[in-house]
Amino acid sequence: MLKKIVLATRNQGKIEEIRSLLKGQEIRGGIEIRSLRDYPQVPEIVEDGATFSENAREKALTVAQLTGQIAVADDSGLEVEALGGAPGVYSARFAGEGASDSANIKKLLELLRDIPPEKRGARFVCVMALATPDGEVSLVDGECRGMVAMEERGTAGFGYDPLFIAPEYGKTFAELGSEVKNRISHRARALSKLCRLLESLDPRLSLPPL
Ligand code: IMP
Repeated sequence: MLKKIVLATRNQGKIEEIRSLLKGQEIRGGIEIRSLRDYPQVPEIVEDGATFSENAREKALTVAQLTGQIAVADDSGLEVEALGGAPGVYSARFAGEGASDSANIKKLLELLRDIPPEKRGARFVCVMALATPDGEVSLVDGECRGMVAMEERGTAGFGYDPLFIAPEYGKTFAELGSEVKNRISHRARALSKLCRLLESLDPRLSLPPL
C-alpha cells in the first residue's frame, strides 16, 4: 500500500534532492511525498538544539503533531577537525544569522588559512528523524568524510560544496555535480537508512486527504 510522508521543510532544493534520492530507492507499495509547502499554516520551526539529532527530532515531532501525519525532518552540517567540529549545527549561520553561502565559505577559509592540506580533514553529517503523530521518533544518520579545499572549486550544489573535497575523486562536491554527490553524500546515506524505516512503517498510518 502507498506510504505517505510530509517533509518538514519548505526549502525547494532540499525537497527536490530528497525526492530524487527516494526515487532511486525501492519502497514496497510506493511513496507519496508532501512538504511544508502543502501546509502553509505550519510556522517556521526554530533550530536551537545543541546537536543535529535534537534539531531533526524537534522538527519532525512538531510537524507530525501540527499536521497529524508522519513527518520526516533532517538536519545537517559540516564538521571540521581542525576547528574541533565547528561549524557543526551552526553551519548555515556560521558567518552570522541569515549569512550567505559565500560569507560562510569566506569565514571558513579565513579560519583555516594557516592549516596545511593534510590537516584539513572534515565530514558532512546528516541526521534524519521520522516522527508519527502520536510522538514516536526514529533517528538515522549518514556521514561523508573528506577535506576542506584551499580555495573554492566548482559551481554546482550549495552551501560548502565548493570547498568539500571527496578524496576518492580528488574533486569538490561542486565539481562533481549532483549525480555523483547523490550517490556518496551524507544525505544519501542517511536517506537509504530512512528507506528501510519506511519499509517497516505500518501502511495504516496513511494520510487523510489535504
Ligand atoms: P540544514 O540541514 O538545512 O540546517 O543545513 C545546514 C547547513 O549545512 C547548510 O546551510 C549548508 O551550509 C551546510 N550543508 C549541509 N549539507 C550540505 C551539502 O550537502 N553541501 C554543502 N553544504 C551543506
